[in-house]
Amino acid sequence: MDQSPLAMARRTFVGHSFATAFAMANPLRATDDRGRSETIDIHVHLAQQWYGESHGALTATHLLRWMDANHIAQAAVLPLVSPEAFWYPVTTEFVLRETEPFRDRLIPFCAIDPRALGTHLTDRQQVVDMLRRYRDAGARGLGEHKPQLAIDDPLSLRLYEASSEVKLPVLFHLDNKANMDRPGLPGLAKVLAAFPELAFIGHGKGWWASIAGGLTQEDLHVSYPEGPVQPGGAIDKLMDQFPNLYGDLSSSGAHAMLRDREFGQKFLVRRADRLLFGTDYYDLTQREFQQFSLFDTFSLPPDVKQKISRENSQRLLGLD
Ligand SMILES: [Zn+2]
Repeated sequence: MDQSPLAMARRTFVGHSFATAFAMANPLRATDDRGRSETIDIHVHLAQQWYGESHGALTATHLLRWMDANHIAQAAVLPLVSPEAFWYPVTTEFVLRETEPFRDRLIPFCAIDPRALGTHLTDRQQVVDMLRRYRDAGARGLGEHKPQLAIDDPLSLRLYEASSEVKLPVLFHLDNKANMDRPGLPGLAKVLAAFPELAFIGHGKGWWASIAGGLTQEDLHVSYPEGPVQPGGAIDKLMDQFPNLYGDLSSSGAHAMLRDREFGQKFLVRRADRLLFGTDYYDLTQREFQQFSLFDTFSLPPDVKQKISRENSQRLLGLD
């Protein structure tokens, strides 16, 4: 049984030959003293069969092969339970089950749609107990949190409260369709102040548009803003004010760094303790990830690369 390609892939990853073979090719490479790749991807997904005619399932095997090809040692696998997150739910139970044989590399998260707290999980202890069960089954974070509610909706506040008690960092998507907020992100500020012990990891186009100041409500919508970053962005202000705020560089994150390279260079260094490498891989047809060029494009000190590519995720998720 252990002769499966996957088992061999796992052994190859652990062995020295993997790192030697790819050491020259991987611009994101962060290696330990045995030369192994150490990059952690904070944001990937699995997808179940039937989710699309042309796509099919994205299995744990696919994911591990893709990680090997892209020199990623470990990845956080995020369920998608809200209809706004994905039309075909990827449940926490599915993610826990699929990642179970590969926990050395695949780190499961859990997710609960906060609207369930309005109908079923109406008691605080029920929410805490459910998250505790997920945590005990291996979950290291809550997300991808992506419901069509205000970021500071009372139902979400109750979910954050339970996450804080169970110590599961929250990875949230923010735009005008999910975890909605106003320019300047005052709703998020309220959340960060209410749960100072809970780490929040920002993701999504509305979130990353907020590296810039002078935004309108429309700018928080699903789009990729171009051009120079106007000063006064909410992300820097909130990161100054709240040590529990982090940023996930997946998806629109890389675009946000690359749209104004002078800003991106300084931001990556300035926020080296708060930024997490990620891709948002969720579909077998995805080929291009700007994230892989980030460390090539910018001139970053080794300790900055190490923090962004591994250490910050390792610390937040409590990985060895
Ligand atoms: Zn995602």
